[in-house]
Amino acid sequence: MKQRVALLGSTGSIGVQTLDIVRENPDRFEVVTLTANHRWEELAHQAIEFDADSVVIADERYYEPLREALADYPVKVYAGEDAVAQCAAASNIDVVVNALVGYAGLIPTVRAIEQGKKIALANKETLVVGGEVVMELAMRHRAPIIPIDSEHSAIFQCLIGERSPLERLIITCSGGSLRDLPREALASVTPEQALRHPQWSMGAKITIDSSTLVNKGFEVIEARWLFGVEAERISVIQHPQSIVHSMVEFKDGAIKAQLGTPDMRVPISFALMYPERAERKCENFSFADNPTLTFAEVDRVKYPALDIAYDCLRRGGTAACTMNGANEVAVAAFLAKQCGYLDIVRSIEYALQKATFVAHPTLADYAEADRESRELVRNLLKIK
Ligand code: NAD
Ligand code: MG
Repeated sequence: MKQRVALLGSTGSIGVQTLDIVRENPDRFEVVTLTANHRWEELAHQAIEFDADSVVIADERYYEPLREALADYPVKVYAGEDAVAQCAAASNIDVVVNALVGYAGLIPTVRAIEQGKKIALANKETLVVGGEVVMELAMRHRAPIIPIDSEHSAIFQCLIGERSPLERLIITCSGGSLRDLPREALASVTPEQALRHPQWSMGAKITIDSSTLVNKGFEVIEARWLFGVEAERISVIQHPQSIVHSMVEFKDGAIKAQLGTPDMRVPISFALMYPERAERKCENFSFADNPTLTFAEVDRVKYPALDIAYDCLRRGGTAACTMNGANEVAVAAFLAKQCGYLDIVRSIEYALQKATFVAHPTLADYAEADRESRELVRNLLKIK
């Protein structure tokens, strides 16, 4: 039986690579739903190529051109964020690949979990914002959440077959696009500079998050919720070659790692095919050509966002949701050249100081914390 797939965010970096895996395995997957935010032309092409049953364009302004582009095809066309969540929860779906970016990923994940769907999760913000509530829901509805994020996929793979409690998760970190820049040079960094990631080609927001290490902080939070491991047992180590994707240390002193050439299609295919693996035509990894794997402590002064994320994790409640909302607004402002690079972390710190804190949030509390945080940062940065 083919797995029937809803791919949320099909036009993004993860979305397009997910479609590569579907293309390589036509006997295993059937694309039912594709969604995008505003790139309606690409969405229409994808829907035609994969013979999708329905498409959703989240930004309703592009509904008409999308509908016209698909008028001669048997594809249902919907618009709006609610429709994205509804399609994720529809009865004709087996697996939801959540490749949305940002807070927008939370509710579609929740709706899919409530229907017991398998979730292949790239959208880490789902767990950053609402990890506690989301994991409790997933447990209750027996909805498996399989990570796509490469570090978490690595840890997930290392944990297969293990029964004993672990000592520590070791998350590796490339250091992002500005790793070779001295701390003093950060103030004048431009979007173009920060967008040049040394190893991975990814969406703009996560590339900036990688440069500030907000991304690594978010991955610590994501790991805490996915694997049920306290902050104290999650460490981060800089590994510029991005060959070791992350590690697990056990109580007998053994350490397991997952390695390979950086390619998101590996964790994507693993999330889709687990407990099996894809047969992919890849060149064998050459250790001889990669003779040096290095590791170093993260510079916590240059990258304060990592410790801010740990603090949010220890505080719990809505803290990480506030951090995420502030970061989303500030990163968008930085990319639009409406603020400087250091304003990103400054905005996060400001929002965390000023925002209302709810210790035991509901989904409605997360929505309010997100809204408040965005408003605080828009006022701070004087943007609309
Ligand atoms: P991207 O910006 O390339 O793509 C995002 C997708 O979501 C697009 O299809 C876009 O149309 C859609 N989208 C954006 N805003 C939306 C909204 N408000 N409503 C509905 N749809 C919306 O992002 P990406 O790099 O593919 O990242 C997606 C997620 O995967 C992020 O959470 C990111 O942190 C995570 N992730 C990405 C990578 C990577 O290599 N790109 C690696 C690990 C984790
Ligand atoms: Mg990652």
